[in-house]
Amino acid sequence: MGFDESRRRSLLKMTQAAGMLAVGGLIWSAYIYEAKATSLLLLPPGAKQKDEFLKSCIKCGMCVEACPYYTLKLAKPLDNLPVGVPYFTPRDIPCYMCKDVPCVNVCPSGALDKELLTDNGRLDVNKSRMGVAIVDTKNCIAYAGIQCDACYRACPLIDKALYLEYKRNDRTGKHSFLLPMVDNDVCTGCGKCERACVTEIASITVLPRDVVLGKMGTNYIKGWDKQDESRLKDASTQINKTSKDKATDYLNSGGDL
Ligand code: SF4
Ligand code: SF4
Repeated sequence: MGFDESRRRSLLKMTQAAGMLAVGGLIWSAYIYEAKATSLLLLPPGAKQKDEFLKSCIKCGMCVEACPYYTLKLAKPLDNLPVGVPYFTPRDIPCYMCKDVPCVNVCPSGALDKELLTDNGRLDVNKSRMGVAIVDTKNCIAYAGIQCDACYRACPLIDKALYLEYKRNDRTGKHSFLLPMVDNDVCTGCGKCERACVTEIASITVLPRDVVLGKMGTNYIKGWDKQDESRLKDASTQINKTSKDKATDYLNSGGDL
């Protein structure tokens, strides 16, 4: 059988093109996935705001080396995170809240910022805001009336960041619910609760604060809370001009409701 060189070349080119397309697709989908996964990334204590952190972290890995509990990892290719960024997964190893915060102390770029953890000139790891714990009340066994305080006992800020609310169990009429509740203002996001949770998939999970916390805005001020009134200083003074159109004009113009 004769050897058709031009046919072989075109077949090879087609295979290469298909390969490149596949690789391109892989890279693109990995990029999309990374972009999404990044939003769920838990950063070390003292990390600056996420955008600022990602810009200033030089991915040297010194924080990872300094961590005595092997909590921090540097993202590798296919980890679905920006490669080289330090992060932690509380269900595997939480942050053990070292008082001297060695990871922050060694950071050469300021991506981990000591100032954010300093109170009256003293380093205070409890000022960390790595994330916030969220309770899945449908799967937490304490909400099913089963006695469990695993997360509560594990919390280094017990009765402050994580406390129990006692509620009558009407189903049995004899027992109480001991419901874990999180105070967003105090929780550091260390993840010790998530690590300790006894359910198959943790029913208390730490997520980045910007992903889960809401913002009341300056339209709503708690009048009974003097401190809350201070937010009025950020209130918008802009007056929204109302339209001169009649309501029927607006409805007939096909505007979005
Ligand atoms: S020590 Fe600082 S710059 Fe180096 S990887 Fe950790 S956070 Fe990034
Ligand atoms: S993450 Fe969990 S263990 Fe850590 S401070 Fe918050 S509630 Fe407590």
